Amino acid sequence: MDWKKNDQIRVAVEAMGSDGEGIAKVDGFPFFIKDAVPGDQAVIRITKLKKKYGYGKLERLLVPSPDRVEPRCPAARACGGCTFQHLSYQKQLEYKWNKVRDCLERIGGFSGIQEKMEPIIGMEEPFYYRNKAQFPVGKNKEDRVVAGFYAGRTHTIIDCPDCYIQAKCNRQILEVVKMFMERYRIEPYDESTHTGLVRHILTRVGDKTGEIMVCLVINGTALPYADELVKQLLTVPHMTSVCLNVNQERTNVILGRKVLPLYGNGYITDRIGDLTYRISPLSFFQVNPKQTEVLYRKALEYAALTGTETVWDLYCGIGTISLFFARSARQVYGVEVVSEAIADARENARINHIPNAEFFVGKAEDVVAEQFALSGGTLRADVVCVDPPRKGCDAGLLETILNMKPERIVYVSCDPATLARDLKLLCRERYEVRKVAVVDQFGQGKHVECVVLMLRVGTTKRD
Ligand code: SAH
Repeated sequence: MDWKKNDQIRVAVEAMGSDGEGIAKVDGFPFFIKDAVPGDQAVIRITKLKKKYGYGKLERLLVPSPDRVEPRCPAARACGGCTFQHLSYQKQLEYKWNKVRDCLERIGGFSGIQEKMEPIIGMEEPFYYRNKAQFPVGKNKEDRVVAGFYAGRTHTIIDCPDCYIQAKCNRQILEVVKMFMERYRIEPYDESTHTGLVRHILTRVGDKTGEIMVCLVINGTALPYADELVKQLLTVPHMTSVCLNVNQERTNVILGRKVLPLYGNGYITDRIGDLTYRISPLSFFQVNPKQTEVLYRKALEYAALTGTETVWDLYCGIGTISLFFARSARQVYGVEVVSEAIADARENARINHIPNAEFFVGKAEDVVAEQFALSGGTLRADVVCVDPPRKGCDAGLLETILNMKPERIVYVSCDPATLARDLKLLCRERYEVRKVAVVDQFGQGKHVECVVLMLRVGTTKRD
C-alpha cells in the first residue's frame, strides 16, 4: 500500500486494542486509532506507519458507533486520564471482561477460561468515585497557576477544576490552593528547569467518613505562609489533615519519602465493611472504596475461610485484606515493602481489636523466602492471597508460594497480562484456576481489576 504519513483515509472500526484504542483494517492492514470505537465509520489521518501496522488520529466521524455516548467532561478527549468516556458503560464492562479472557487465553494458555469467569461486577455510579487525586501544578501561557491533568502522553498540564471521576470537594480545594499560590507568589514547579516549589496537589477523601486530606508535594523543605494555606483549606468542610511532602528529585515519581504535617494527624480514616482503616499519604489504598468492598468480599468468598486457617496476605498495603480476612481465620500474616503502610496496618489491627494479624516490612519475595528458610522448609499456609502492583509477582516469590503448598491461592490483580503470566507459572505445579471474577474499579478508565481462585489439585476441595 503506498500510504504516507498525514494521508487521510476512510475506515470502519472493528475491534478494540489492549489500550482501549479502536482497530480498523484497510485491505488487511491494521490501524490503531485513539478515541475510535468499534462500529465507527470515520476518516482518520495517518500519524505513523510501521511495516505491519499503523497509527491514525480520528479526523471526522462519518457514522458514529451506536455504542458511543457524549462524554460528560469537556476535557475528556485531551486529558490522559479517562480512556472511555465516549463509550457506553455497558460496553466498557464488556471490553474489560473480554480483556481478562483474552489475556488468560493468549498469555496464560488457559483455553476455555470463560467457563470459569463470573459476569463482570460493574459500578452503580461510574462517576465521582475516586478517593485519591494527584493534580500536577504549573503555569499556563497567561502566567496563571493551573492544576489538573496531563494531556495524554505528554507533560502539558490541562487546567481541570472539575474532574468527573474524582470526589466533588476537589474543585474547592484546587481553587483554594491556586488562589493561595497566586496571592503569595508561590511558584509552581517547572520540570524542565527543576525550579519552582509546588509540584502536585494530592487529595484523599474518606468515602464513609467524609474526612479529607490535602498534601502539597514541594520541591523544597518548607512552604512560605503555610499557616495561611491551612486557614484557607479549613474553609472546606471535613478538612482533617493538611501536610507537605518533600520531593526535591528530578523525577516523574510524584511523592518523596518525607511528610511534614501542617494540620491534623497526617492521616485520614475510612471504613470498608465494618472495619476502620487509617490511611497515610505514602500508603497505598484502593481508589474506589465502594467497589473495593465488593472486591474484598469476592476475595473472602474465594478464600473460603472457616476459622482454622493460616493465611499469608502478600503486598498487603495498610493491611486491608489481612484484616478483612483475620476475623474468619486463625492467623494472618501480611507483608508489604512500604514501612509507613505497615505502621498503618499495625495501627489498623489495634483500632479494630484484631489480635491475630502480624505484619512484616520488606519485599514479599525476600520476607517469605526468609521465613520459609527459618522454618527449615516447614512453613505452610492454607491460603495465600497476593495483590501485587501492575508488574505482577516476583517469580522467586511464586516458587516459595508453591513450596508452602497452600490449598488455595487468591490472586487479586490490577493487570490481567501479568496475572496470566503468573497463573501460568503456578499451574505448572498442581494448581488449577477455578474461578475468575472481574470487578470494575475504574469506570471511564481502561484499567481492569480481577480476583482469581486457584486450588491445589489432588487435595480435599471445599467448594
Ligand atoms: N492489598 C493492598 C495493597 C495492594 S497494592 C490493598 O488492597 O490495599 C500493592 C502493594 O504492594 C502496594 O502497597 C506496594 O507498596 C506493595 N509492594 C510493591 N512491591 C512489593 C514487594 N516486592 N513486596 C511487598 N510489597 C510490595
